[in-house]
Amino acid sequence: MHRTETSEPRALGDHTWRDRAACRSTPHHQVDPELFFPEPDEVDRIREAKALCAQCPVRKVCLDAALENGDSVGIRGGMTEEERDPLHKKLDHRLDYRRVNEVLAGRDIHLTTAERRAVVRAAYQAELPASRLAWLLKITEEHAGKLYRRTRREIRNRAVEQQKKAEQAPKDQLHGLKTHRSNPPVRDDLGTAA
Ligand code: SF4
Repeated sequence: MHRTETSEPRALGDHTWRDRAACRSTPHHQVDPELFFPEPDEVDRIREAKALCAQCPVRKVCLDAALENGDSVGIRGGMTEEERDPLHKKLDHRLDYRRVNEVLAGRDIHLTTAERRAVVRAAYQAELPASRLAWLLKITEEHAGKLYRRTRREIRNRAVEQQKKAEQAPKDQLHGLKTHRSNPPVRDDLGTAA
């Protein structure tokens, strides 16, 4: 069976993807919901549930929704609770620029802390007004202004650090050269032939 999988991030609060789920019961296709809550040793049930997920057109969206909602129970997106556990732990570190761009384009989707910071930075560099950032992130304009100030500070601090490093590099090289001249390397291979 061919399936066209949807991989576009879902909008926050959008549950319409569930209408296309392969595990959704219809009058012609009954699915036991308990199938997706097997015990770890119920190998056949796990295999059966995963086979349904494998042909599900919203598998990726289902997995994302489970991770973003902290839904750690049952089989979701073709993965058992145990298989999903490391992904739950890693979610905070996700930095998916496609999501960042989707939000900058006006879509309301789930972002991690790192992705929100990337949105603020991109909006700041594009000189979007704080009111626009507020609308994009669904926060107050005052909060958006604070985020812009923090970003400006971070960018300035980074520039100062880079400047310091650039100034220090030639001094380090000079120091290395002087040390080399006053302490020439000692050859330790003289008279040691076997
Ligand atoms: S991926 Fe699996 S659990 Fe998720 S909606 Fe599809 S069939 Fe159901």
